Formats: sequence, C-alpha cells, structure tokens
Amino acid sequence: MSHDPHCIFCKIIAGQIPSRKVYEDDDVYAFHDINPWAPVHFLIVPRLHIPSMAQLLPEHARLMGKIMLLAPRLAIEQGCQPYPDGGFRMVCNTGIQGGQEVHHLHLHVMGGPRPWLKG
Ligand code: 5GP
Ligand code: ZN
Repeated sequence: MSHDPHCIFCKIIAGQIPSRKVYEDDDVYAFHDINPWAPVHFLIVPRLHIPSMAQLLPEHARLMGKIMLLAPRLAIEQGCQPYPDGGFRMVCNTGIQGGQEVHHLHLHVMGGPRPWLKG
C-alpha cells in the first residue's frame, strides 16, 4: 500500500492536515513535530506509506539513504549548531515496544541548546 487513507502522516503529506513544512521533494516530506522535545524537532518521512523500518526492502535503500543525507543538511538549516559542539539526535521509533505511535516510517531530528524535554 503506497498510501493509507487512515494514516495521519499520509494526510499531512497530501495537505489534508496542515503542517509546518521544512522540506519536500518527489520522495520525501519533512515538517516540524507538533509536540517538540527539543528547540529544533522535525520529522522526515517518505511519501510512500511504509509502516516502519520493519517493512523496509532492498528497493528502499536509495530512499533511506536520501533521508539520512538530508538529516544533517536540514538540521543546520533549521538552526542546529555545527558538529562537533552542536549537532543533533536522530530517532526512528519502530513498533510498539520501540515507542512508535504513528505507523508511517519517520525519522525524528532533534537539536539545539540543552536541556531538552526528553534526554
Ligand atoms: P513516534 O512516537 O511515532 O515516533 O512519533 C510520532 C510523532 O509525531 C510525535 O513526536 C508527535 O508529536 C508527532 N505528531 C503526531 N501527530 C502529529 C501531527 O498531526 N502533526 C505533526 N506536525 N506532528 C505530529
Ligand atoms: Zn502513511
């Protein structure tokens, strides 16, 4: 299933639910988390509805590589300070025991001056 009509992130990607856009291209959408844990906290999601990392296939390697390469670039654009004194944290919760609440694969990117709400 490339799109799930009940998925909140599919609705955000389709513009049916408003979001604060960070970046978009043909493969990827990035937006600010509605409930940030850190001064900078945005999510990078594939447009394709992949429920979690547990469903990744070899054909998704380029897409996931793109997301990983985007993270440091967007982190700086969103105000994270440069490595090594600044930097950012990436989190990808997977499954219920992994703390995943929205079942559309997403990478959290968090940064900015500490302390943060979580961690
Ligand atoms: P998870 O626990 O699945 O890794 O994280 C889901 C994240 O999505 C949470 O940090 C939550 O704040 C964020 N989120 C949930 N619903 C919305 C929404 O409607 N808009 C935005 N911008 N973020 C959302
Ligand atoms: Zn989805």
